[in-house]
Amino acid sequence: MKIAVLPGDGIGTEIVAEAVKVLDALDLDLEMESALVGGAAYEAHGHPLPEATLKLAKEADAILFGAVGDWKYDSLDRPLRPEQAILGLRKNLGLFANFRPAICYEQLVEASSLKRELVAGLDILIIRELTGDIYFGTPRGRRVSPDGHFPGAEEAFDTMRYSRPEIERIAHVAFQAARKRDRRVTSVDKANVLETFQLWKDVVTEVGKQYPDVALDHMYVDNAAMQLVKAPKKFDVIVTGNMFGDILSDAAAMLTGSIGMLPSASLNARNQGLYEPSHGSAPDIAGKGIANPLATILSAAMMLRFSLNQPDAADLIESAVKDVLASGLRTSDIYSQGTTQVGTIEMGDAVVAALAGTTKKTSKG
Ligand code: NAD
Repeated sequence: MKIAVLPGDGIGTEIVAEAVKVLDALDLDLEMESALVGGAAYEAHGHPLPEATLKLAKEADAILFGAVGDWKYDSLDRPLRPEQAILGLRKNLGLFANFRPAICYEQLVEASSLKRELVAGLDILIIRELTGDIYFGTPRGRRVSPDGHFPGAEEAFDTMRYSRPEIERIAHVAFQAARKRDRRVTSVDKANVLETFQLWKDVVTEVGKQYPDVALDHMYVDNAAMQLVKAPKKFDVIVTGNMFGDILSDAAAMLTGSIGMLPSASLNARNQGLYEPSHGSAPDIAGKGIANPLATILSAAMMLRFSLNQPDAADLIESAVKDVLASGLRTSDIYSQGTTQVGTIEMGDAVVAALAGTTKKTSKG
């Protein structure tokens, strides 16, 4: 089992080190090899996704990714910016299915921006299509407007598009994931306004007929945004396009208390996957040793489950994280009165200790 370890920039190096430490503590035959990506790769090799990094990623069974980006690269030409590395990996590896679970841990309910009764026990899964839609659709660009409200003015345009096979494959992923959960899929679209999403709705409905044991409903994206903050627990699996999924999954992230807790997986048709926390490189806290490594550690658990066929090891990590939270340890992003504040490394150490069954419950937890 070969893992490409791509820490990236900012807190990426700090949090990935903790996830690697946790993986090392498991009794598994894992081969891990690191490479530069993002701003760090640009500094060293002049490109955010050097050939050698891409080759390593392609050859690995799974990729453990930290985060990329820093404001200091904002003036670079777009193809050289750190974030292009992620788009390049998604495209080159065909990572079309993004899994973003949003789970509200009992111990963190008070950190949510919503009331306890709305989020306690929350466990939803957002499946976002990742390689199509308006983010990748062509044509796109800037030009002198040939028509519209202001002919002759400068304008910019992007293209929203989805093909039937693209929708079919992400729909299958969603229905199959729902079969392992509460067997409910909500497909989020904007079929009332957009041709692209009328096709989306039609195709998801057709695919749904192959899964009579899974309940399917459809929701417009504006209503879905509202329902996510009004009654999030009524969802089980949400499946949607690239842009709607981008926005809704960040909103769902905040329901759980902290973006520092949320893992994600991006899979291709061969179950090869890229695993990363849902947050970015957090330049504001990089180097301070205070970043929460749990989202990355939980991403490593998803990696073991989805790409490396080690569900027992994944369960071990997830229950170790719950034990650590129950023991009252918190990084600053999830700290509340009465808990014990720790740094990135101590949090990683605590998960390793919990794996070994040695975590002592603190009296405060
Ligand atoms: P961000 O997610 O990096 O940070 C948002 C806020 O959350 C910050 O206040 C940060 O301190 C906090 N935060 C994030 N992760 C945390 C953690 N693990 N522990 C504690 N606090 C945490 O988003 P941003 O500030 O909008 O973006 C910063 C950079 O990250 C940008 O360059 C952006 O392009 C990049 N980015 C990268 C990815 C990725 O690599 N997948 C995703 C999003 C943003």
